[in-house]
Amino acid sequence: GHPMLRMAGVTKYFNGRAACDDVDLSVAAGEIHGLLGQNGAGKSTLMNILLGLVRPDRGVVEVAGRPVTIRDPNDARAQGIGMVHQHYSLIPTLSVWENIAITAKGRVRPDRITALVEQTSARYGLEVSASKRVGDLTVGEQQRVEVVKCLIDQPKLLVLDEPTAVLTERESHALFSMLGQVVDGGACSVILISHNLAEIRSVAHRTTIMRDGRVVSQVVPSETSVAA
Ligand code: ADP
Ligand code: ADP
Repeated sequence: GHPMLRMAGVTKYFNGRAACDDVDLSVAAGEIHGLLGQNGAGKSTLMNILLGLVRPDRGVVEVAGRPVTIRDPNDARAQGIGMVHQHYSLIPTLSVWENIAITAKGRVRPDRITALVEQTSARYGLEVSASKRVGDLTVGEQQRVEVVKCLIDQPKLLVLDEPTAVLTERESHALFSMLGQVVDGGACSVILISHNLAEIRSVAHRTTIMRDGRVVSQVVPSETSVAA
């Protein structure tokens, strides 16, 4: 079958300099794929191309075998691409339940919202409190709310940008364990952007390493790398 994501020959210039230079990236169904590189390596540009925020000068982008055609950033979500940002899109004064229900409202009939929020949260082991405000949660808990909020859309591909930058080791482990559940069954794949090799090794099935806009290597860190 098709890979969940296929990017081929993706090239983008800014001011005559290639931020991405002939990049190939393929992610299988159910794979957690690490994207590793120093600041300026081209990771954000590549992901912004995937999300339709940046138009490539050259290259192909396909999700589940279909060309991605994005004219508006909302199209990414409609085409099965979810993004968990470094800076959360949650509303701190609203409850966990309300924050997730905001996404559900755009997806299903009003009488189905409660069921969708509860099913999705339960599947990924998130407690959805209607009384706890998101602003009162730890950053690790907020991060997991953000992931479940994205999963309401049932994305084919979930991209996380440096998700553990401000998490403790324990919180990072909880997040990775959730990501293991997300890819379980193969309906969704994950791209984990990081500049931390040790961390990526512990969770990613394969890792693409970028430097100066180019892919410098693609590695399979170990046989037993998925966080349980
Ligand atoms: P990373 O996410 O790996 O830190 P970026 O994709 O942000 O890398 O940046 C890659 C290169 O492209 C850098 O040299 C950066 O300054 C440049 N760049 C990224 N976005 C833009 C932009 N919108 N305009 C000009 N230069 C950009
Ligand atoms: P990250 O930490 O994810 O690499 P940055 O803080 O480097 O992100 O960049 C944030 C945004 O600014 C990105 O969308 C990137 O494309 C854009 N950007 C990065 N470098 C430049 C640049 N030199 N000129 C204009 N925009 C840039």
